[in-house]
Amino acid sequence: MNETPRFDAYRHAEALPPLRDDPFDAAVPPIYQTSLFLFESYRELEDVFAGRSKKPIYSRGDNPTVRLLERRIADMEGAEEARAFSSGMAAIAAAVLAFVGPGDRIVTVRHVYSDAFRFFEKVLKRFGILVDYVDGTDTEAMLAALPGARLAYLENPTSMVFELQDLKAIGEAARRHGVVTIVDNSWATPLYQNPLDVGIDLVIHAASKYLGGQSDTVAGLVAGSKAHIDRINGEIYPYTGAKLAPFEAWLVLRNLETLPLRLRHHHEAGLAVASWLQAHEDVTDIMHPAFYDHPGKATFRGFGGLFSFAVSDRIDVAAFVDALRLVRIGVSWGGPESLVVPAKAALSISPETNVFARFGVSDRTIRLNVGLHETESVIADLAQALLAAKR
Ligand SMILES: *Cc1c(COP(=O)(O)O)cnc(C)c1O
Repeated sequence: MNETPRFDAYRHAEALPPLRDDPFDAAVPPIYQTSLFLFESYRELEDVFAGRSKKPIYSRGDNPTVRLLERRIADMEGAEEARAFSSGMAAIAAAVLAFVGPGDRIVTVRHVYSDAFRFFEKVLKRFGILVDYVDGTDTEAMLAALPGARLAYLENPTSMVFELQDLKAIGEAARRHGVVTIVDNSWATPLYQNPLDVGIDLVIHAASKYLGGQSDTVAGLVAGSKAHIDRINGEIYPYTGAKLAPFEAWLVLRNLETLPLRLRHHHEAGLAVASWLQAHEDVTDIMHPAFYDHPGKATFRGFGGLFSFAVSDRIDVAAFVDALRLVRIGVSWGGPESLVVPAKAALSISPETNVFARFGVSDRTIRLNVGLHETESVIADLAQALLAAKR
């Protein structure tokens, strides 16, 4: 497996403009914990305002620590530019709102991330934007929905059931029809999938997950061409004010250093646990991209350790979850903890904006985040809990 040529590329000095200026050659970037930057003269201030020279002005716009993270993610995705946000949702909202207006139509996939779904249903619809949910695995249906749409919002794989989309086919068709394409790439990270390489316009990262990797930070990023990021910067980013704090950016920068090692473990342990589950007599389905036969697999160089499985009627879902010891109950993913989310509990959330109820996730479905635990420990815990929960 090709680990990632790009991850090393970001270490080149050119990618790190703020560090080149560090007077002490610090190995770890400083945290520029400042809201404002000072100017020597009227002339310097005017030059920066007029765009004749570049310098941070105020940290709701640019901050050097945050810029470093933005440059690194841009380089890892093969993008010209990136912008960081205070959360993955802030990144999603800004990327979408920069390109749509009343009367526009968005094409998205069923089983899209639950709060992206709520953003579409509760916010966009209120402003007269139409949202089409399509079975993303059906490339013909996706292509048929594109003409006349303003934007296509994808997630490869989707949340909870990990459905795939053929990013290359959709990206190419979208370009022909003038449709802006966005892919949520949180699951694969820039190490294992680079959607821009196959014609996608913008990539989203919930850095709260694998990029942050320690369950200690909420952060988001958007990466793409300079023209697309300029539009996000010009139309929305400074005005919603959802900027990333320098300390949070520093945490993500720090944890990026271990991303290749962590992801290799998530990839291998995830596949091993999924294979073990597949062979279990009380497991009826594995929802993991590696287990699907679909062209949407072609863009992955590796897999995340987050996937779902379904249990038979013989297993009491609540008893199974309660019997787990090493594996904990929790909604996020991408950190060291191994976690489960039973769809049955999520199905109790109010039905009108419940993505699981809307697109039919079975209450037998359990999402599993294989964290940084040893594979055998996770399997042993799942085995004893399945046994304990048998009716
Ligand atoms: C968590 C998540 C998000 C949202 O990120 P936040 O930082 O929690 O706002 C977006 N997409 C996916 C796939 C996620 O799992």
